[in-house]
Amino acid sequence: MPGIEDLYREIILDHYRTPRNRGELPPPAVYSEGNNPLCGDDIRVYLDITDGVVRDVKFSGQGCSISQSSTSMMTVAVKGKTVAEVKAFVRRFKHMMTLSDESEQIDESINLGDIEALQGVVKFPVRIKCATLGWNTLLEALTASTK
Ligand code: ZN
Repeated sequence: MPGIEDLYREIILDHYRTPRNRGELPPPAVYSEGNNPLCGDDIRVYLDITDGVVRDVKFSGQGCSISQSSTSMMTVAVKGKTVAEVKAFVRRFKHMMTLSDESEQIDESINLGDIEALQGVVKFPVRIKCATLGWNTLLEALTASTK
């Protein structure tokens, strides 16, 4: 019987080989770009926000399997959510990645689903940056969209 580690590895590889929501969105969609020079990861996140809801999200760029699959999973998770829901979701994810601020309110009831496959990355501190790159880039794009 395959263990949970194998299952997690399969989920990550699946998103790396078959990324979801890959591409670009034309203006008026906003985008932000993030990179992780330690690993060579480069990611652009495009957001179409209408009436406070993420109507569409896409990403482009290149990098390691962790950065690419994490961003792919993120796009699936945030599509259709309100800006407030997305922010709470990102906080919940960063909490799992041991990056949350003590003062931040974490909603433990938020189900991360497949994204829990990334929790093993916490054991490799240099890879945490890979896993969170797309998420930080998403937050920047959210900020850009509300200007
Ligand atoms: Zn990386």
